[in-house]
Amino acid sequence: MKDIIFIHPPPIIDPKDLQKSLMPPYLVGYGLLHIASYLKSQGCDVDVWNIPMFYFNGFDLEDIKALIKHNNPLLIGVELNWLQFASGAIELTKIIKEINPNIKVVLGGVHATIFAEPIIKKYSEFDAIFLGEAEASFNQYYQNLENNRSLENIPGCYIRKNGRIIKNEGRKTLEIDEIPPYSLTLLKPRLKETFNVGSINTCRGPCVFECQYCIGSRKNYPIMLGSRKKLAIHSPKWILKQIKLLLRDTRNLAIQDYIYCAPKKRINEIFTLLKKEKLADNIEYFNIAAKPGSFDKDSLNLMSDAGIDNIDYGIETGSDSVLSKLRRGYTSQKVLDSIDATVEAGIFPKTYWMVGLPDEKDLGETKKLIKETIDRFAYPRWITPLIILPNTELFRTPEKFNIKIRMKTFEEFLSFSTSKINRQRYYPQVITHTTKDMNVDDILNAANELKDYILTFKEKIIENLKTGMKKYFHFHERLKEPLIITRLVHALDTLKNTLF
Ligand code: SF4
Repeated sequence: MKDIIFIHPPPIIDPKDLQKSLMPPYLVGYGLLHIASYLKSQGCDVDVWNIPMFYFNGFDLEDIKALIKHNNPLLIGVELNWLQFASGAIELTKIIKEINPNIKVVLGGVHATIFAEPIIKKYSEFDAIFLGEAEASFNQYYQNLENNRSLENIPGCYIRKNGRIIKNEGRKTLEIDEIPPYSLTLLKPRLKETFNVGSINTCRGPCVFECQYCIGSRKNYPIMLGSRKKLAIHSPKWILKQIKLLLRDTRNLAIQDYIYCAPKKRINEIFTLLKKEKLADNIEYFNIAAKPGSFDKDSLNLMSDAGIDNIDYGIETGSDSVLSKLRRGYTSQKVLDSIDATVEAGIFPKTYWMVGLPDEKDLGETKKLIKETIDRFAYPRWITPLIILPNTELFRTPEKFNIKIRMKTFEEFLSFSTSKINRQRYYPQVITHTTKDMNVDDILNAANELKDYILTFKEKIIENLKTGMKKYFHFHERLKEPLIITRLVHALDTLKNTLF
């Protein structure tokens, strides 16, 4: 029996559809894990259930129902960080309410926040939807619930009360280092080795940049996601504590937030401390996301010494005019400089690209830049169509970008969750817009064209890594070449399988 159960839902409720999801279903957002960790620190008995991982282990829906009945918690918090899980989150909540209508079920996460109003209006099964960071509000909700106090005035959420919907403003945030680090032992079932990555949340709040499609940008974050006025970065000591906690249960780490827009001084303080602690020997894989130009040579060298062995660069396009229109803040030359500096520091650069960007007439400049980055030992990891979410500049003012928005309502966006992988690899239902130069088919074809283009370099990319490994080994003796090559070959072999 537990007081609270947090649930990472499946994309679609039927376990048979688990492997047909358009995006990988297993990774639980660290937001949920931090809330669980905070509630635990307040004395609550909590579990975090990863339903896709239960399915992976052979559980079916009847087993999940039996688990809910057996635990019969007072409160269940369902995660909706990404639209991909929307249908599963809704269906699972309906099932919970059928089992016991007295269990309070609340929703939270990044995309729950963006679509909170239409969701709470349409799906009466949700008792509340939390907006943005929810450690403090969720705790207050639970304490009031347990002590039979009113739930009406909990800040930072939509609440359903006697058929009425109340929106409470005034989102509460904790001091950044008061948020407790989380442990992977919170998760049930434990992650299988292949998916066992510890994600480190190093910062919260708005990014300092203003990319026109980003919900976390300095302009869009305050509208949608939260009450922090500026980026709050965890102290190096807190980050070290989090990493040590994660390393008890995994050897794979990732930093996928936007620490890359932090000041250089803070970046260097963090990685100086990690280097001093000599953690690298215990780490098998240490990844970080970045924007080209985020880190200079000093920082990259420190990061490499601290154990970072690969960086995901969101490059998006090779067209300088499109980069400028999207306010990405770098040029294709900056991309090449970043790749050079990264390789020089003994870090493997992986690159991420988009299609369907405003004013991108053809793929010529992007192909050229992809080739130039491959020539410099980078590996193009990901091609995706641009996704335009509500309240971004592209969504609000499509005419400024010569685009037409195809998806506006939550019901339309549900297709990200209900679409399944098909043999034709054809997914028009998840293309959010068209551009002046590209209709839906053109965008889908562009994604395939870039993937085909990358695969013409397959042997070279693998050979590059083997050559580059000498350099990476020099910096990271712990790296296991066969494992890394196998991972790369697998990633290239499956590049065409999914859209995202
Ligand atoms: S740099 Fe990254 S996080 Fe910042 S606004 Fe751009 S896309 Fe968003």
